[in-house]
Amino acid sequence: MPKISVMKPTHIEHIGIAVKSLDESIPYYENVLGLKCYALEDVADQRVKTAFFMVGQTKIELLESTDPEGPIGKFLEKKGEGIHHIAFAVENLPEMLDQATTNGVQLIDKQPRRGAEGLNIAFLHPKSTFGVLTEFCTHPE
Ligand code: ZN
Repeated sequence: MPKISVMKPTHIEHIGIAVKSLDESIPYYENVLGLKCYALEDVADQRVKTAFFMVGQTKIELLESTDPEGPIGKFLEKKGEGIHHIAFAVENLPEMLDQATTNGVQLIDKQPRRGAEGLNIAFLHPKSTFGVLTEFCTHPE
């Protein structure tokens, strides 16, 4: 077996959840779970609207599609509402992507790009991660 380059994310930064409607799902998170929606953001290039909640040091990111042909629109069509991705916080994103490649993990994003909340992000392909769409993210310096 080839040597594995251990990646060691620091924590779960957020969990991305696809919903049909932010307006309909936010009250569950606020009134039933008692979490506060602290940010709403339009991420135009991903064709989503997002709502953020903090729980401990982990966020919940609700994702509503603004375009049926966008990534969340297609996900909802195929799988319905539910967990879309898990995001690990990492210290050095470009290095992590190199390590992922070394480890034979297929990347969706070969280069980091800008995601919601101004984070630098990159996705790993779920074919390489046992079915879990995986995001790495880091705060830009
Ligand atoms: Zn995310």
